[in-house]
Amino acid sequence: MAAKRATAKKSAKKSVRTSAKKSASKRMTAKRAVSKAKDLSDLFHDTLKDIYFAEKHILKALPKMAKAAQSPDLIAAFEKHHGETEGQVDRLEQVFRLIDKPAQAKTCDAIMGILDEGKEIMDEYKGTEALDAGLLAAAQAVEHYEISRYGTLKAWASKLGLTEAVRLLDETLQQEHKTDEALTTLALGEVNSEAMAA
Ligand code: FE
Ligand code: FE
Ligand code: FE
Repeated sequence: MAAKRATAKKSAKKSVRTSAKKSASKRMTAKRAVSKAKDLSDLFHDTLKDIYFAEKHILKALPKMAKAAQSPDLIAAFEKHHGETEGQVDRLEQVFRLIDKPAQAKTCDAIMGILDEGKEIMDEYKGTEALDAGLLAAAQAVEHYEISRYGTLKAWASKLGLTEAVRLLDETLQQEHKTDEALTTLALGEVNSEAMAA
């Protein structure tokens, strides 16, 4: 009787081990399938959708930021970059065409968060002398996200041999860098000193 129970236990253990082994091997197969199916070109495509989503939202946010800003220089900077951003969206659509994919956006939680913070500044600092300094900081956070994305996309495009995409992505990357620098100049100038004087 005892011996029978022991055998039953043993075989139960064995079957648990076997099914654990089976599911582990299933997982391995799934993992292999995933790493086989997804490659750098998928990563490039996904990240392109991410920045396409981001640019479309930035395009909507910039006029609101220009409307909220007080310094004429900051208003001008936001308006100028709004125009540039329209061109950037267009360039991204060209890159989608280069890889034979439809221009498609994929939710970018990062830019939603950054833009939400900008909205918070607009609400919480409305009518204060510190508003422009806050808007500048929010805008720079946006530019830094974009610089990170375009830098990566350009490097991947180069790895994938997409020469024309490299050129297009670099053109936008330079615009984002210049915008960031212009915002820094403004931040170091009147905007921050106005905030200090308040
Ligand atoms: Fe942009
Ligand atoms: Fe993102
Ligand atoms: Fe930008």
